[in-house]
Amino acid sequence: MISTMAQELKNITTIFIKKEKVAHETYSFYFKKPARFSYVAGQCMKITLQDVRGDNRGPRRFFTISSSPLDEELMITTKIIKKPSMFKQRLFSLEQGNEVTIFGPMGTFFLPDESNHPLIFLAGGIGVTPFHSMITYATSINYPTQIYLFASFSSVEEAVFYKDFVRLSKENLFVKIIYTITHPGKSREKWQGEVGRISPGMIKKYIPEFKNYHLYICGPEKMVDEMFEMMKSVEITQGKIRKEQFSGY
Ligand SMILES: Cc1cc2nc3c(=O)[nH]c(=O)nc-3n(C[C@H](O)[C@H](O)[C@H](O)COP(=O)(O)OP(=O)(O)OC[C@H]3O[C@@H](n4cnc5c(N)ncnc54)[C@H](O)[C@@H]3O)c2cc1C
Repeated sequence: MISTMAQELKNITTIFIKKEKVAHETYSFYFKKPARFSYVAGQCMKITLQDVRGDNRGPRRFFTISSSPLDEELMITTKIIKKPSMFKQRLFSLEQGNEVTIFGPMGTFFLPDESNHPLIFLAGGIGVTPFHSMITYATSINYPTQIYLFASFSSVEEAVFYKDFVRLSKENLFVKIIYTITHPGKSREKWQGEVGRISPGMIKKYIPEFKNYHLYICGPEKMVDEMFEMMKSVEITQGKIRKEQFSGY
């Protein structure tokens, strides 16, 4: 469920700047940040592309803004699989200067101005995007709250933002990063970190007192539902959990 912040929202035209490969089948796309467009770390926007033909979901999609609100450009990060939708094919073919329409920012899944509780972020795959915005921003403003990010990926090659987060966690001692790989055998690169799915046992190993934390969960719908139920089953009350589901995966 996406709700809007108390501000006037309208379609704004902006331009595509560049794309960068950031992991296996994963790209970041950069757009010019329009004047007066501001957002809170973790929020999303709707992007409409011109000339998308034959896509049964139409020419628009929601994307989390994966850049920090302090960055000069707007960045989104997404999977481009082997047989992508017509929408993603068009996104991938954008050239510098092409116009796109954005609508937003939207969403209540964002870093609070201040938190009385330490935070745990749980990401399933590409669901790491809002946490990239939040942790980059938190580091820039010296956000004085303990944050643990657990992120799970199928293979090492898909582990987007890992190096970025390692750098950020060296700059910001409030931030700890735990990546886990569910199919290490599928990876060509060596992996010495955690393996298997995120579980209460894995979280407890790093944070024995994890029940005092507030949780943010993000990822494809099914993964979020599973993590949500798992955390409720270890007596994390629902009121302590916020979730963002990426529909469409
Ligand atoms: C609030 C919100 C925020 C979002 N933020 C992001 C974001 O930051 N990054 C992002 O990538 N998406 C995000 N999404 C999802 C995004 O809007 C698209 O729905 C998603 O990227 C899929 O795009 P696509 O339909 O163009 O399909 P494609 O990714 O091109 O996939 C084509 C088809 O293959 C299927 N498919 C794709 N991957 C898999 C898979 N791993 N397993 C099984 N089937 C698969 C899809 O269901 C789809 O039917 C967000 C959604 C919401 C609601």
